[in-house]
Amino acid sequence: MRRAFLLVAAIVLCLPSFSSADSGAPSKLEVPAGARPGPNFNVKVATDAWLRTVPPDKKARSDAYFEGGYWFELWDFLLSAAIMVFFLESRVSAHLRDWAERVTGRKNAQTPLYFVPLFLLTYALTFPLTVYEGYFRERHYGLATQTFGPWFRDQIVGLAVGAVLGAIGVTILFAIVRRLGRRWWIWGALASVVLVAVTVLIAPVYIAPLFNTYQKLEDPKIKDPILRMARANGIPATDVYEVDASRQSTRVSANVSGFLGTERITLNDNLLNRSTPEEIQGVMGHEMGHYVMHHIYKDIFFYALFFLAGFAFLNWSLGWSLTRWGERWQIRGITDVAVFPLAALLLSIFFFVTTPIDNTWTRTQEYEADIFGLNAARQPDGEAAVDLKLGDYRKLDPSPIEEFIFFDHPSGRTRISAAMRWKRENLNGGNEPAAESAQDARQAPPAQR
Ligand SMILES: [Zn+2]
Repeated sequence: MRRAFLLVAAIVLCLPSFSSADSGAPSKLEVPAGARPGPNFNVKVATDAWLRTVPPDKKARSDAYFEGGYWFELWDFLLSAAIMVFFLESRVSAHLRDWAERVTGRKNAQTPLYFVPLFLLTYALTFPLTVYEGYFRERHYGLATQTFGPWFRDQIVGLAVGAVLGAIGVTILFAIVRRLGRRWWIWGALASVVLVAVTVLIAPVYIAPLFNTYQKLEDPKIKDPILRMARANGIPATDVYEVDASRQSTRVSANVSGFLGTERITLNDNLLNRSTPEEIQGVMGHEMGHYVMHHIYKDIFFYALFFLAGFAFLNWSLGWSLTRWGERWQIRGITDVAVFPLAALLLSIFFFVTTPIDNTWTRTQEYEADIFGLNAARQPDGEAAVDLKLGDYRKLDPSPIEEFIFFDHPSGRTRISAAMRWKRENLNGGNEPAAESAQDARQAPPAQR
């Protein structure tokens, strides 16, 4: 289930959150000496100059937070795998199926009756890790603003949403398995993508407001330049939304959500309160990049292929496991709902092993959006300053292999380096390139189109 939420989060494209300990919107952007325009402008020097503005203790803290996250990916995976094995070995899964069959004879009613208690039990068993990871650890690193009561209330709401959506999804998938026999995995994969897409479609209207308040942004000083940028890039937006993300955390973020006409741009209040106009414009340029380059539709296509591969593996590995342990776990076959923990376990292995592929797909799109944003907003310093704020919770300067495996967005160094490269070639950031290229253009013969 956690994986499904991750996927939804991945598809609701967002500039990842970042946080800032300072309060009150800074009015002026401070550019470090090494990154100012001049005849000796150098991309590496400028990038290092930006990175050096982060105090060492702050950098060490965010590195520790982010590197700890690598291990939590492993612990989360291992804990849920252990729970699924427990459901199978203890026959909890088989007993729950027997109970659902006693309550009703209708197959499509048995599935949710089986699924919901299992889902709640899984949540209860993972709760100690959830509360440590999601509450105590976030507070320890100064990223959370909630006390336990409101945090727990959000958990319960999320649990209810997960139970309802999960029950619908699993019921549909088992109906497909029963109906389509051997080809179930192809249609199962496609149905899963459709289910996730529908969730993404309705989430801004029906799910997100359960946790936060959304309202239209009224301040013309912020709204007008954003809408101008939107219109210039062919985005038919008439409103920008603001969300009270400070209810939960100090992280700053923005996102473009929805598709098929429900698209909307949302800024969170942390971003509005803690960033200069240059930074806000840099962020908005990035978000518009997602929109203009149709990343959400490309995501749907990518995940359709990704799910097909996952379900092909599931189809094969289910058959392999059931011939070995099916009888011992009292599972009658793939049409039996009692197979659910085994299917969840096998799929989680597939998604865990392929994490770098998933991350690289997302990170590549995020980099594209960065490049689009630089061209649209023309705020390389605003972009660099915002990238540093990411550094409050994401390692700024990882090794390339670390970035490949663990990063679903480019690292601070990669993003700032791209911004400084853009600056070198524009806005007279370097050795007067604008004047030189104008001269070149005059001397060169007319180019053929
Ligand atoms: Zn993004």
